[in-house]
Amino acid sequence: MLIAGNWKMHKSPAEAAEFCLALRDEEVGGVDVVVCPPYVSLAVAVQLLAGTEIAVAAQNVHWEQEGAYTGEISARMLLELGVYGTIVGHSERRQLFGETDESVAKRARAALDAGLFVIACAGETEQERERGATEEVLRRQLSMFEADDNLVIAYEPVWAIGTGKTATPELAQEAHTFIKSLVDVPVLYGGSVKPDNAADLLGQPDVDGALVGGASLELDSFTAICRAAARS
Ligand code: PEP
Repeated sequence: MLIAGNWKMHKSPAEAAEFCLALRDEEVGGVDVVVCPPYVSLAVAVQLLAGTEIAVAAQNVHWEQEGAYTGEISARMLLELGVYGTIVGHSERRQLFGETDESVAKRARAALDAGLFVIACAGETEQERERGATEEVLRRQLSMFEADDNLVIAYEPVWAIGTGKTATPELAQEAHTFIKSLVDVPVLYGGSVKPDNAADLLGQPDVDGALVGGASLELDSFTAICRAAARS
């Protein structure tokens, strides 16, 4: 069971330090925990969580090692900082920053080749679900992926991200089973996971953890979700 906290564009280095110092003292045993700070807060998180079971991952990575790619960061740079992995293909990257299935797959491939752990996101929009295209969308988004020991997929229905609308446990289970038929790796659920719905979602047989946005920003809610995972 893996619980990953996607901080998005939240927590400056000082705020990240405060959170990591407090997280170090929490009991989150029995579950794998990853926090994903913004780039500028990675170093302090790596430093303060060193020697704990909690890993640090980035929110994106470029496919080249270096070059004229203003605003991008390479896997080699993340590894030098001591970063363990990275998210790729978050729906906010796809919707707001022009990320495509091809660029996501390239980022994932380069990260895996460099030795990073990868959380690759996939999921349908509300319109796609309503017109019955969920499986077609997932198949397309994951067509360039193959199983890898360092890869997990995060099923994140776009209509559930940051909206307070959570997929039902049954709906998540159905999507996860389908994703595993495409790429046989662990599948995390993401989309408004909170302490009060975590146990039901994580109790599904094909839900192998969660990618948590909003509720990962507060220590109490994040650790409550980690504890729910440990009991699942
Ligand atoms: C996310 O950003 O990956 C996410 C699932 O956000 P939230 O938990 O806030 O819906």
